[in-house]
Amino acid sequence: MSKIPINLKEGNIETDDIIVGIDLGTTNSLVAIIADEKPQTVKDSAGKHALVPSIVYFDHKGNVEVGEEAKQKLIIEPERTIFSVKRLMGKSYQDIKSHKDFFSYNIIDDDTESLVKIEVGDRYYNPVELSGQILKYLKSRVEAKIGQKVKRAVITVPAYFNDAQRQATRDAGKLAGLDVLRIINEPTAASLAYGIDQNTEEARTIAVYDLGGGTFDISILRLEKGIYEVLSTSGDTFLGGDDIDRSIGNYWIDKYGLDVKEDKKKQQALRLLAENAKKELSQQDSVSMRFENKEIGLSREEFEKICTPIIDKTLASCRNALRDAKLQKSQIDHVILVGGSTRIPYLKASVSAFFGKTVNDSLDPDEVVALGAAIQANILAGKQKDMLLLDITPLSLGIETVGGLMDVIIPRNSKIPISAARNYTTSVDGQKNLRISVFQGERDLVENNRKLGEFILRDIPPMPAGIPKIEIAFIIDADGILKVRAKELRSQKTQQIEIKSTYGISEEEMAKMLLDSLEHAQEDIAVKALLEAINEANHIILSTEKFIKQNQEVFDNKSLEKLGELKEALRDTLDSGNKNAIEKAMRKLNSFAEPLAHEAMDVQISKAMKGKSINS
Ligand code: AMP
Repeated sequence: MSKIPINLKEGNIETDDIIVGIDLGTTNSLVAIIADEKPQTVKDSAGKHALVPSIVYFDHKGNVEVGEEAKQKLIIEPERTIFSVKRLMGKSYQDIKSHKDFFSYNIIDDDTESLVKIEVGDRYYNPVELSGQILKYLKSRVEAKIGQKVKRAVITVPAYFNDAQRQATRDAGKLAGLDVLRIINEPTAASLAYGIDQNTEEARTIAVYDLGGGTFDISILRLEKGIYEVLSTSGDTFLGGDDIDRSIGNYWIDKYGLDVKEDKKKQQALRLLAENAKKELSQQDSVSMRFENKEIGLSREEFEKICTPIIDKTLASCRNALRDAKLQKSQIDHVILVGGSTRIPYLKASVSAFFGKTVNDSLDPDEVVALGAAIQANILAGKQKDMLLLDITPLSLGIETVGGLMDVIIPRNSKIPISAARNYTTSVDGQKNLRISVFQGERDLVENNRKLGEFILRDIPPMPAGIPKIEIAFIIDADGILKVRAKELRSQKTQQIEIKSTYGISEEEMAKMLLDSLEHAQEDIAVKALLEAINEANHIILSTEKFIKQNQEVFDNKSLEKLGELKEALRDTLDSGNKNAIEKAMRKLNSFAEPLAHEAMDVQISKAMKGKSINS
């Protein structure tokens, strides 16, 4: 085990390198650093805006634009302009399909559990690459400002982000050339920014209310001896300031008889006017403006009526979070406001009345998370000596999966003691044994990491591929001893190994492994994506072959022949080393196979129903 800050002795990373704090948001992102001993967000070259719209645009040649420039393309080239990518991090098409209409770009409909891909022109991107572009932009903004290379970062994520989403965020950082020292929770960052951890030895309970443009989160935290614990989270991933804008627009349409139906440009113009009115009403008692030669306006009273149902929804979530944390409102010591929409005075008053407490709102609600991330970065850099340093895992620990890929189970910099588990399955019908190889390191291919040990889980009861559920757990105790346990959940067959200090590694070796992982990030992620595409393609080829065999009688020869051809065309791409070509061939095969699969299912169902009477 190692203590942070990690002292990297060689290569171009210097010990007093700056570590940046990044708020990678759904709508906007920000980067902050400690300058003159104070956390500060880094603004654009004109020194005006700290917020960078989390938007990525690709032109026809594959050139990239990020931020304000990309935002301008939202209306003119929506299919090439990717927004809200954070909503897709670590998600499959299955996870997001009910919100598909929300996205104006093309998310590949493969109806599977594999991670989503986005199609722009004839290229495919995944959310990690897209977030990587935003991070790269933020990195270069800081570098321009301080005239120094930036290599290390702390990035914030919502408290409810799962393992896959956190790992995706780490990977995005890596792709941008950043060594992500910590992923911290956004509400924890906000609490750090308000300095709630200082001047108190007593345990504190904190509610962080975060209402942005499109999402609402409430988190209840407990702070004790410098350590934050998330007691509960609640919220709504599709609720925010945008809903207020839409409600104002609809109110005007009714009140003034406006007609914007079928006209996207007019709708957009009205939405922008509504947003301006909302913002002005944070300062003034009423606003008036012109829309299509009509005088329109809004009073504070009307505005507050419009906001009420939205605020009520957020307060219902607050109630849920309190219930889950088993706390009364009166047990909350601090309420912190985060997100642009919390600037609304009526909202502040409502939240304050709900908790029966004055709210913390002295910091800019858009900046507070990034400022907290910068403070955490400063602690990691060892610049705040009074802060507690915890034992952490110096490198990621994981196992080898199909294709020689490293699957991280405990990410680097995790606090110990810790345990984490993930479920796996077999890849061959009737598979009896499963080899579990344990690795340490940051590279995506295990061949570039360090092998710590290996064992075989034997006597798995014979089942078709994909059916057994094998839980692999990594447990590190307070002494830093790692136990790896594999358990087949149906038969309860268990096998485990203990790995002692052999995985302790010298600082030089560790520094080298980290530097290697940064240096090879681009190629590693490309190889990983290619291997994943090949794995998926092999899986699809096998199931297509099964399908053709089982459905000879259901379909005419022509359909099955065509299916066979598309399958072979996919097989032909496997050795090409071209991920886009494989994905395109998969897509072609999938879109041809999907209606056939539905039809085959209908035939099966009607067969099953035949001859069966329904008794009541
Ligand atoms: P965020 O996602 O945290 O950047 O929040 C953006 C949301 O905050 C958008 O819906 C903005 O319209 C809203 N917002 C920004 N400034 C104000 C303001 N002064 N009053 C009300 N809402 C605001």
